[in-house]
Amino acid sequence: MAEQNSPERPKDASLAVKAQHDATLKALPFSDTRDFDDASRGFLGTREHARILSDNGREIWSLEPYGFLGEQAAPPTADPSLWRQSRLNMNHGLFEVVPGVYQVRGFDIANMTLIEGDSGVIVVDTLTSIEGARAALELYHQHRGHRPVTAVMFTHTHTDHWGGARGILDDATLAAGNVPIIAPDLFLEHAVSENIIAGPAMLRRAQYQFGPLLAKGPRGQIDCGLGKSMAAGLVGLLRPTDLIKATGDTRTIDGVTFEFQMAPNSEAPAEMHFYLPHYKVLNLAENCTHNFHNLLPFRGADVRDALAWSKYLNEALQMWGGKAQAMCGQHHWPVWGTDRVDTMIRQQRDLYKFAHDQTVRLMNHGLNAAEIAETIKLPASLDGAWHARGYYGHIRHNVKAIYQKYLGWYDANPANLDPLPRIEAGKKYVEYMGGAASILSHARKDFEKGEFRFIAQALSHLVFAEPDNNDAKALLADTFEQLGYLSESATWRNSYLFAARELRHGMPNLPPRPGMPRETLAALRTEQLWDVLGVRLNGPKAEGKHITLNWQFTDTNETFVLTLENCALTYLSGTQSAAADAGFALTRDLFNGVIAKQTSFPEAVMAGQIKVTGNAMKLAELMGLMDEFPRMFEIVEPRRQPIT
Ligand SMILES: [Zn+2]
Repeated sequence: MAEQNSPERPKDASLAVKAQHDATLKALPFSDTRDFDDASRGFLGTREHARILSDNGREIWSLEPYGFLGEQAAPPTADPSLWRQSRLNMNHGLFEVVPGVYQVRGFDIANMTLIEGDSGVIVVDTLTSIEGARAALELYHQHRGHRPVTAVMFTHTHTDHWGGARGILDDATLAAGNVPIIAPDLFLEHAVSENIIAGPAMLRRAQYQFGPLLAKGPRGQIDCGLGKSMAAGLVGLLRPTDLIKATGDTRTIDGVTFEFQMAPNSEAPAEMHFYLPHYKVLNLAENCTHNFHNLLPFRGADVRDALAWSKYLNEALQMWGGKAQAMCGQHHWPVWGTDRVDTMIRQQRDLYKFAHDQTVRLMNHGLNAAEIAETIKLPASLDGAWHARGYYGHIRHNVKAIYQKYLGWYDANPANLDPLPRIEAGKKYVEYMGGAASILSHARKDFEKGEFRFIAQALSHLVFAEPDNNDAKALLADTFEQLGYLSESATWRNSYLFAARELRHGMPNLPPRPGMPRETLAALRTEQLWDVLGVRLNGPKAEGKHITLNWQFTDTNETFVLTLENCALTYLSGTQSAAADAGFALTRDLFNGVIAKQTSFPEAVMAGQIKVTGNAMKLAELMGLMDEFPRMFEIVEPRRQPIT
């Protein structure tokens, strides 16, 4: 056991953690096991461990490392409620929802829904990766015969719902163009843009949210709440051919009638729900799943609208309540029976409404975000509903998102208006608190009492003041770890445990991130590319520079003037400047290739693919002012490299 207690290794759960888990076991309705029946109902078959390989043999998905979840009782190092959810998310394979409607679950964080029509099958959502989608469709074919795909539908804009489309539609089918690709209005505008401007920061933060670099195990990553984990593999965006624009719109596809409801600015900026009257099956995409979803994921995003979300669920109830005999979402498992479907929608509706209204009420009484999180408690009727529990989002951070949506980052107390940054503040806190030894001694005593939240705050100041204080880092790591063991939310657990890991072992050494594939780049508007370039401009280096460039994209018939002055890059579309330093005429397609680094700008000029006028060196000068963003940056420790 000596090895287990070395500072490098995950520790045991403390007594305080075990006491909370015991209380959870008593407080929640663990004897209600209907979810386990539902999650396995209609099982038709699967592949071993849901293991999926890429063409070159790389494993992109497998549930084999999660075999430890076969244990029914939660270990002391995991919250029992989260453990339960993690076990539910182990179900994998092809499942019948009703005869004619099927789902592949557990092959990805998201689900694929397959709806049989007169001559083939309609595929709703195509998982994260091409390999995953191919494997899911193969499994379906194995059990339901080789029905051709007659339509592909994307319920919303997140990658785990469209990334694998090319695994469903091959080049020949795409070229023939007779399989519609159906998506909610503004799909393409939002599919990539949510993660583009702040992409580098979001991807690093996502490592904390999902825990992909954590060891899997009872002391490590066990789930993401919404599903097991993020999938790897190849991603490709396909352009929809038919957009659903309004609630009440219908389509008859391969003989199956779909009734649609629009739900923009809910879980995703563009999202839609549908009902199949023939099958009496309702699909609320990702807005009515078996957890309290995120109003603001830790990776970072625009704050989602809890009020709108609740209204869509109410409208869905009005449109289809009492009719739907089964409801399946694009994560988790279905529920059956009109009463249970309606109850779940009603409870989810009220979950978002309660969180919204009570946050705003407390806000209007003058509480700040942390105080609201500390005060708010779900009503018993929602608290005891398993699907309302905070496995992915959580009431304690969702209320902060609602506060942020209305009031922003500032709590109006000017003590918080202009605080010293982390390192400088850390040094002063340590000095005021009587130095490192005093802080550590207090923290060790509080650790025994289980006061982990404050220890994390205090020791974080010490680590920022004294980044080489190994005792402080070790104790902070141990503290984060206990907080991880305590967390019911998988995203909290992953964040705490990954923070502990980085304090113990440093940041993982990862190769640079590959660039965006050309196909996905093609989905971006040219304006978005200029916006991305703008945020790469190193302001201080651009001091005193003035550059004006004309651009002409011959395939899209677009023109732009790009201007650098006052250390800011701006553009105007639909015009050219007579005073430009240089001008470039090329295709947008070639421009995508340059950005994807498949060709270089000078090479393309040499090859005559770019027509240049004026002084082309001005473009080189501008590009010399652009930053490259690192894949990794410090989060729980001060940064080692200054920003130049
Ligand atoms: Zn999703």
